[in-house]
Amino acid sequence: MKAARMHESGGVEKFVYEDATDPLIAANEVLVRVKGCALNHLEVWATLLPPGTTFSRPRILGSDVAGVVEAVGDAVSGIKAGSKVMLQQPGVSCGTCEACLAGVDNQCLSYSILGQGPWDGGFAELIKIPPANVIPIPENLSFEEAASIPLVFVTAWHMLVTRASLRRGETVLVNAAGSGVGIAAIQIAKLLGARVIASAGSDAKLEKARALAADEGINYGTGDLGQEVLRLTDGRGVDVVFEHIGGEIFDKSVQALARNGRLVTCGATAGPTASFDIRSFFIRQQAFLGSFMGTKSELLGMMPYFRSGQLRSVVDRVYPLSEVQAAIRQLASRDHFGKIVVVPE
Ligand code: ZN
Repeated sequence: MKAARMHESGGVEKFVYEDATDPLIAANEVLVRVKGCALNHLEVWATLLPPGTTFSRPRILGSDVAGVVEAVGDAVSGIKAGSKVMLQQPGVSCGTCEACLAGVDNQCLSYSILGQGPWDGGFAELIKIPPANVIPIPENLSFEEAASIPLVFVTAWHMLVTRASLRRGETVLVNAAGSGVGIAAIQIAKLLGARVIASAGSDAKLEKARALAADEGINYGTGDLGQEVLRLTDGRGVDVVFEHIGGEIFDKSVQALARNGRLVTCGATAGPTASFDIRSFFIRQQAFLGSFMGTKSELLGMMPYFRSGQLRSVVDRVYPLSEVQAAIRQLASRDHFGKIVVVPE
């Protein structure tokens, strides 16, 4: 098969499009022919590893996969060759530990995201996967749209619904509204009946966020995020901040938080540290919530909303897999609204 692999660290040009050995499946595994693989910042971070590290095996990244079942192992039942599928959630867990049996498979000690650990990702023509990760694609979705769902939507759902308990009538600030996870959060928040204030670094992205479902928009490149939120909420602040940027945006987001507000975060793309006034935090009885990925049952529970069209994935651009370097460069530039997808030729 063809695959885009990293043999060593040191930049986006280390992704090499080349021949690789087809994966062999065990009796309890499924082989899927990849028809679309959506990018995430995990791939950008891989390019930022310092040069000089060689990997024990060439790395095939790419976590969000949709495709067609090519073959199933002898011990697999209920999945047929030829079925259109997507790989959730998208992480592999052991399936037998206390966390997995409690349905919180994202807290499994052996949890690994596709392409980030022992399981190869979708920057290839073929991928092998445990059957628990294989779910059907809704009829109304293309492979590119289906591949754009799992990581960002399960992450946003876990943050807003499970962690922050966002309720009807509350106001939520969604940061970086043009990112895949921001687009998911805007739609989920509206589905829950919340008022959505979107923030982004450009007016063009805010226009698209409003067209999608956001009620208001703040350009944090030209205005003060904290002050603008207070202006739009009559000085009250928002009930929930959906955060994944870090750095100064985190600090401004804390200023935008109402009394009893919850700030939930899943990332720190602009910087891993933040500073805030502890006194204001306890006097105003606020909460900071960490969130990591989501569970298989959360993604399954969301799929009816994709069938009905109440949730939809937004694809910015599709590249052939051989042009994965250009795809990653576009993601890193932040010049996109929605997901970037690579498709094997
Ligand atoms: Zn487990």
